[in-house]
Amino acid sequence: MNNILDLEPGGLEELVTGFGEKKFRAGQIFGWLAKGITSFDEMSNVPADLREKLSREWYIGQPAVVTGQRSSDGTEKCLFEFADGARVESVFMKYSYGNSICISSQVGCRMGCTFCASTMDGKERDLTAGEMLGEVLAMRNHTGESINHVVIMGMGEPFDNYEQVSGFLRLINSPKGVNLSLRNITVSTCGIIPAIGRFAEDFPQVNLAVSLHAPNDEIRRRTMPVAKAYAYDDLMKACRQYTEKTHRRITFEYALIRGVNDSKRDAEELSSRLRGWLTHVNLIPLNEVDGRDYRTVTEENVRSFRRVLENNGIAVTVRRTLGSDIDAACGQLRQRRTGEKLK
Ligand code: SF4
Repeated sequence: MNNILDLEPGGLEELVTGFGEKKFRAGQIFGWLAKGITSFDEMSNVPADLREKLSREWYIGQPAVVTGQRSSDGTEKCLFEFADGARVESVFMKYSYGNSICISSQVGCRMGCTFCASTMDGKERDLTAGEMLGEVLAMRNHTGESINHVVIMGMGEPFDNYEQVSGFLRLINSPKGVNLSLRNITVSTCGIIPAIGRFAEDFPQVNLAVSLHAPNDEIRRRTMPVAKAYAYDDLMKACRQYTEKTHRRITFEYALIRGVNDSKRDAEELSSRLRGWLTHVNLIPLNEVDGRDYRTVTEENVRSFRRVLENNGIAVTVRRTLGSDIDAACGQLRQRRTGEKLK
């Protein structure tokens, strides 16, 4: 059995014409899938015999909700399970500019960032394009809310699964389907340089966020193993080339970790790197993770770090602490529930 959500319109056309049906049936099926149906029986304008043929070889790969945690601020964090038992996390968030979902691109992660729960058991497998779409559809069904923005910043490194992430972007942007504007999508990388150039060519309308989390190589290498493969200066160069090519503002994510990267000196050094170019820094007070020694910052440290960047003319936001009453750190819910499953 295969997941029909993986098929782009062209693939669906091949499928239905292979069954001896007219091409327009593919558009109908694609439209139904984008509505979030979970059974072929719901495709009321598709002939019963075609539905029957489809269901013999294909399934609709929306993940099941294992558990959902709703925060008092409207954040909803779900642990999803796919047909093979693989589990990922997705988070639904309400902002003044619309509803957003943060999805995972892999089951686990092999990047090994030392502050992150998602990587503790390594990477189990990649998600397919259709499984990523399934996260969006399942969250929409679960919350009953519309989704206006998608951020690929959950579990996994999107550029370590480039082809499937590209497929997902095409699927969700397809006018016959969910039809979400590429400008409403953000892909977040830990800094895989070759993929940044490729991404600027392939998807210049999609927003790019780069997880920096350090002002220099020394700190970055301590917390993010990817920095051993790609030097800080080279990463900055790739990011500059990205902004020159796309004319889009790049976002740098910076998780503030107490005593590691949160001093005024770190803020000055970061400022000297970013001063004068089209960029934006998103400061994220670290979500503490069970089994990791890192501690989050004080509010005073966040304020003073921010002040230094602003005094240097750098656009800064501090991520609203979403869902502070739930397991907000990415990967933590999966860790806990997997632990429970094993007991
Ligand atoms: S922070 Fe992102 S890239 Fe780093 S280990 Fe976690 S999921 Fe992977």
